[in-house]
Amino acid sequence: MSRHRSRTIGDRSLAPETLMMGYGYDPALSEGSIKAPIFQTSTFVFRSAEDGKRFFEVAYGLREKDPEEALGLIYSRINNPNLEILEDRLAVWDGADKALVFSSGMAAISTTILALSRPNDVVVYTAPAYGGTEYLFDRILPRMGVTTVSVADVIPPRTNFTPISLAEEPGAALADVIENAAYLAKRKGGRLAAVYVETPANPTNKLIDLEATSAAIKALEQAEAPALLVDNTFLGPLWQNPLQHGADLVLYSLTKYVGGHSDLIAGACMGRADLMARVAEMRTICGTITDPHTAWLLMRSLETLHIRMERSQSNAMELVRRLRGHPKILEVLDAGGAESSPAQQAIFARQCTGAGSTFSLRLKGGEAEAFRMLNALQLFKLAVSLGGTESLVSHPSSTTHSDYSPEAKIQCGIGDNLVRLSVGIENVDDLYADLVQALEAI
Ligand SMILES: *Cc1c(COP(=O)(O)O)cnc(C)c1O
Repeated sequence: MSRHRSRTIGDRSLAPETLMMGYGYDPALSEGSIKAPIFQTSTFVFRSAEDGKRFFEVAYGLREKDPEEALGLIYSRINNPNLEILEDRLAVWDGADKALVFSSGMAAISTTILALSRPNDVVVYTAPAYGGTEYLFDRILPRMGVTTVSVADVIPPRTNFTPISLAEEPGAALADVIENAAYLAKRKGGRLAAVYVETPANPTNKLIDLEATSAAIKALEQAEAPALLVDNTFLGPLWQNPLQHGADLVLYSLTKYVGGHSDLIAGACMGRADLMARVAEMRTICGTITDPHTAWLLMRSLETLHIRMERSQSNAMELVRRLRGHPKILEVLDAGGAESSPAQQAIFARQCTGAGSTFSLRLKGGEAEAFRMLNALQLFKLAVSLGGTESLVSHPSSTTHSDYSPEAKIQCGIGDNLVRLSVGIENVDDLYADLVQALEAI
C-alpha cells in the first residue's frame, strides 16, 4: 500500500485527527504541493482509448472492479480527485467502507432514499426530523408510490402520519412500528425499504436507541433486511458512531459541524459497500455531487474538526452547568442530560461519547419573554443552522418548526418559550456573560 494510504506506523493504528493531514493524497502527483490543489475541471483526459473503455466498464457496472483497481477519473459529476480524497478521509471517522459527498445534506438524504426505495415500498422515520427531511418523507415520497410512516412523540403536523407515542419506551414503540410497517409493505407487494432515524432529535435532543432499532429490524422475516439509516449531523462523527451501533448508512449535513465555518453547504452518506454502490449510481445520475472547491474547503475543515468539536462541546457543557437552575429557566435540554429521563440517560451512556454543543432552554414565560432574550443577545447571532465556530441562537417555534400545528408543538415540547443554542468556540466566560445579560432583559 502506498505511503499516503497507510493508516498505521508499525503496529500502531493512526487516529483520525492524524490522518486528516495527509491521508489519501500523494504530493508527488501535484508538484509536491503540501495541500491538494483544487482540481477545477469538468473532465479528465484518458491516456488511451483502452483506458477510457476500462473506466466506463466499471462506471457503468459492465464488469466488477479488480480489488486493487481504482475507478479511473472520468468526469466531475462522477468523480474528481478532491472528492475522492475528501471521501476517503470522511470514511475514516465513522469506520465506513465508503463515503460519498453531495451538494447539500438534503441532496445526500434524498439521493440515498431514492437509491433504496421503489414504488409499493414503505419507509419508517422518526419525528421530529429536520424540516427538509420531513417534507421529503411526508410530501415527495408518497407521490412516487412510497408509503412513509412516522414514529413520533407527537402527531406530526404534516400529512401521512401514524400517531404513535414514544414518550415512555421509545425502543419498544419503534419496534412495533417497524413490525407493522413490514406487514403493511408486504400487503402492498413491496418491502420495508428503510428505517430512518434522527438522533438526537432537533430541537429537543431526544435520543433514539439505535441498538434496539437494529434488533427490531433483524427480527423481521423479510428477504432483504431494510437498511437502518441514521442522520448523525448533531453528534457526529466525534460523539456518536452509528455504524458501531447497528446502522447500515450514516448521513450528514456537512454544512454543520464538519464544514464548521458557516461558509458552505454540503452533505455526505457513508457505510456498507453494497448499499453505497446503489447510492453512487443514483448520485451519478441525479448529479447531486458537490464541486471541487467545496470539497477542498471541507478538507481544510477536517483538519480542525476534533479541536473545534471538543472546544464547542466543552463550552456548551460549561454553559449547561452554569445555566441549570437559573431563575428565568424552566429546563435545560441537552442530550442525555441531568434533566432527561433515566431511559434517555441509559441510551446516552451506551450510544454517545459526548452531548455535543447544540442544546435548548425552556424559559419561564412565552414568546414575548423568548423574543426579549433573543433580541438582547450580543454575541449569539440570531440565525438557523448550527455547528459553526460562532455561537448561534434560534427560536424553533416561530421559524424552523413554524408549520407544526399548535397541538403538535405542545406535545412535541417545541413551545414558544424554547430557544435553541448552537455553541461555538469563543471564550466561554464571554458567552456566559452574554446569556446572563440577555436573561436579565426578559
Ligand atoms: C441542516 C440539516 C440537514 C440538511 O442539510 P443541508 O446541508 O442544509 O441540506 C439535515 N439534517 C439535519 C439534522 C440538519 O441539521
